[in-house]
Amino acid sequence: MRLGPFQVTFHRTTVNKTLYIVSTPIGNLEDITLRALRTLREADLIACEDTRQTRKLLDHYGIAKPVTSYHDHNEAARTAELIERLERGENIALVSDAGTPLISDPGYRLVAAAIAAGIAVVPIPGPSAVTGALAAAGLGTDSFRFCGFLPPKTSQRQKVFEELKHEACTLVFYEAPHRILETLEDIAAVMRTRPVVIARELTKLHEEFLRGTAAELHVTLAARPSVKGEITLLIGKAEGVEEDDTPIEQSIRALETSGISRMDAIKQVAKARGLSKREVYKLTL
Ligand code: SAM
Repeated sequence: MRLGPFQVTFHRTTVNKTLYIVSTPIGNLEDITLRALRTLREADLIACEDTRQTRKLLDHYGIAKPVTSYHDHNEAARTAELIERLERGENIALVSDAGTPLISDPGYRLVAAAIAAGIAVVPIPGPSAVTGALAAAGLGTDSFRFCGFLPPKTSQRQKVFEELKHEACTLVFYEAPHRILETLEDIAAVMRTRPVVIARELTKLHEEFLRGTAAELHVTLAARPSVKGEITLLIGKAEGVEEDDTPIEQSIRALETSGISRMDAIKQVAKARGLSKREVYKLTL
């Protein structure tokens, strides 16, 4: 039966000897598709990152199926085992702790091995923090680049931002809450006035979107006792204003030579680049 562009199949959806890549909620347990639930119910085996985490989801939906762990540390050995079971005719569902498997989550090795072995790989699409964040961030979506997790050190992060700053698209990152303030400082230093969105705790009780320049968001978050929860960070394209690549000290000196005091020069440069005076001062040190 065809319903416009949609097609609903009423027969058994899962086919033996198939690897299903099943998206699961990123917080709100209601964010799971009917097809995902059916696939999990019909699977011979569910391979999951953390069996305890997936058990909570399965219990919530009354699904009693055998599970096995499949994570970064046992990927190599477990891949061979799972391929063998698929080849014997089983169907297997792969899930991660949250969202879409393989998106900054394990599974690539298994999918590649299944394809190499001629086994069908079927995605069961659903939530992912990338798409959820993009959908409501209010930044351009015609073209975006998902860059996964940022490196932990400032120097490495600034290098990443330097490499990406001329990309004419929205940039999406995953970031840990304990590093977000430092990361915002690095964005402010490299990408200056670009619009930034922090999508925190998507689909959960305390979901929030913070929008502004990196410097503005830094002020907002630094005023909180702590920053908690899961964060997806987005950086928009430069909005009409050309990025100023001039080193900050050079811009200040240029103003000083035109007769402006150093203090006023710092103030002007800070305003032009969407930074606080303190940040500009720090960057000149
Ligand atoms: N596979 C997942 C997906 O499809 O979104 C991502 C897994 S990755 C290991 C986990 C990271 O995704 C978190 O550290 C955070 O950056 C981001 N994330 C996951 N859930 C989120 C949520 N509810 N709100 C905001 N970001 C989230």
